[in-house]
Amino acid sequence: MTDDNNPFGGFSISMIDEPTDSAPTAATGGPSVIAEAGGHADAKVVIIGSGPAGLTAAIYAARANLEPIVLAGSAPGGQLMLTSDVENFPGFPDGIQGPELMAAMRSQAERFGTRFVDADIDRVDLSGRPFRVWARGVEYRAQAVIVATGASALWLGLDSETRLRGRGVSACATCDGFFFRDREIAVVGGGDTAFEEATYLTRFATRVHLLHRRDTFRASKIMVERALEHPKIEVHPNVAVEEVLGEDKVHGLRLRDTVTGETREMPIEGLFIAIGYQPNTAAFRDWLEVDEKGYLVVHDETGSAIDGVFIAGDVHDHRYRQAVTAAADGCKAAIDAERWLEAQGITEAATSTAW
Ligand code: NDP
Repeated sequence: MTDDNNPFGGFSISMIDEPTDSAPTAATGGPSVIAEAGGHADAKVVIIGSGPAGLTAAIYAARANLEPIVLAGSAPGGQLMLTSDVENFPGFPDGIQGPELMAAMRSQAERFGTRFVDADIDRVDLSGRPFRVWARGVEYRAQAVIVATGASALWLGLDSETRLRGRGVSACATCDGFFFRDREIAVVGGGDTAFEEATYLTRFATRVHLLHRRDTFRASKIMVERALEHPKIEVHPNVAVEEVLGEDKVHGLRLRDTVTGETREMPIEGLFIAIGYQPNTAAFRDWLEVDEKGYLVVHDETGSAIDGVFIAGDVHDHRYRQAVTAAADGCKAAIDAERWLEAQGITEAATSTAW
């Protein structure tokens, strides 16, 4: 099913910034109150984050009778809430809407006894057990914590970019490249992500313009050389995107030469922003190790430097960043947490032999 007038080839990927009444939300049961402000709540496991990593951890932890509390954030569901068609999550041959997938994961977690709190965390104290996490005035005490707070793509910050997200503007070539078959598109950025995405997008696009604000690149030399030699990639140094042109779909860019200040228009149908990601680690920086890129460091698959604190998903993974890899990570973190709690004598061995 394709539509030549649609920059997404008939597969609309309108992103849903603010869920509407008709759009599925990840908060299927509404915000549940576990304790009043000023009070506290105890749990064997507290999971922070409600993207695929957090929710999969919740499903596994709940099925192991750990009755987890998920501190889901004020905008639950993670990055998939901003995508509509998800076509690469196994099990959905016709694709599934991102918010629908997250709502389904959440109800699956609720079915086994997960308790959800749709609030952002304010701070944590991981100095000893019980670990303590504060959210909207309530203190959550846990014997084990799973950190699954994800990462956020960086955006240029233009109004036109925000308006056209999902209508030709994307931050994920793996997710959305397919929709740009036989289109001319642009990628913004000068790091490895931009070059990798530009190269990946040549599978679909007729031409890929790589736009970078300087004339030297952070990307590794080999990636730059490969792009310069690629017949479908045209590298444009010293350009900044001033505006994404188009009403309800992208039809071009207004570019500014960062040396001369001159502006010009470039007709394209898709724009990929590849200027980096920011892992959501602010609350943990005093407690957990971060690498040189700001991502949490894992030890032995999902462990951290603190026994009993586990890490899952994009908050540590800058390599794969996929819903399915985050979900797999959440599964591993829950299994590791359950085994760790059992070793501490905090839980009985899981009664079920099957996770
Ligand atoms: P980087 O921080 O390396 O690069 C970001 C790029 O975006 C820079 O060129 C920067 O420009 C540009 N940029 C940032 N903000 C803006 C803005 N507001 N407007 C225009 N341009 C902007 O991020 P990456 O995501 O590319 O890479 C992150 C890390 O992941 C790196 O260490 C990289 O090596 C690694 N990585 C490795 C890969 C691999 O090995 N296959 C693949 C992808 C990533 P400027 O240079 O002027 O600051």
